Amino acid sequence: MEKSRQKLIVVVLDGLRFDAARKYLGYVEHLVEQGIVGCYPVQSELPSLSRPLYEVLLTGTPVARNGITANHVTRLSHEESVFHLASQAGLTTAAAAYHWVSELYNSAPFNPVTDRHQHHADKPIQHGVFYFEDHYPDNHLFLDAEYLRTAYDPDFLYIHSMNIDDAGHKFGGESKQYEGAVRGADGILAALVPQWTAQGYQVIVTSDHGMNAMGQHGGTEPEERNVPLYVWGGLPFDAMQNESGGLSQLIMAPLMCSYLGIGPSEAMIDPSARHNK
Ligand SMILES: [Zn+2]
Repeated sequence: MEKSRQKLIVVVLDGLRFDAARKYLGYVEHLVEQGIVGCYPVQSELPSLSRPLYEVLLTGTPVARNGITANHVTRLSHEESVFHLASQAGLTTAAAAYHWVSELYNSAPFNPVTDRHQHHADKPIQHGVFYFEDHYPDNHLFLDAEYLRTAYDPDFLYIHSMNIDDAGHKFGGESKQYEGAVRGADGILAALVPQWTAQGYQVIVTSDHGMNAMGQHGGTEPEERNVPLYVWGGLPFDAMQNESGGLSQLIMAPLMCSYLGIGPSEAMIDPSARHNK
């Protein structure tokens, strides 16, 4: 499944449930309608919580293995992430993300004074801008990412927003505020994606977990687990599925590796393997 190297931007819209994406991401859905982007349902791993799923997305390992079992487990990852693999392969890595991503791959616990802006050639995330308030505006976050992209020309840029999740917790996953946050993210993508694709980036948009009407996630409800995966150009392989019919979230890390032209870690699954009958 390895293919030639391509620069990759991965956008993780924290807390974006599948049905809300399909209804409110009007620009991205336009690209689906045009046949430019493929949209796939993904069933999140469990627990459907942020920090465990950041580790799932970036290492391709289940929580029972990686040990990031809850949001309060504050330590560096023990696994090989896409950041590790890419930097070891000589690629440039960057992230504009919530501070928990820095805690998993660069430095834990997060020290806002020293860790908000990071430039370390020897760390898995070589260039990082990390925020630590859930209401840090998505439009600022995406511009942090644009700064990293234009100043450091990363091969792998990870962009992770929090306003959808924040609105969901405050007002519920079926509230007008949640809907507004999803629509807001779509507007940001509408402004940036055309530039990214014109400059040759491969783009993936997904989420860690969903959000139920009560403003909760962590459990097994479809509203909490089902998230979208948008892939520009469509998936490069037939991917393995869960019993729900959704793709396994464990394919995300090896998918990123395949676009970057690097081998997956030993712990990552072969995303094209079909072991469900
Ligand atoms: Zn949340």
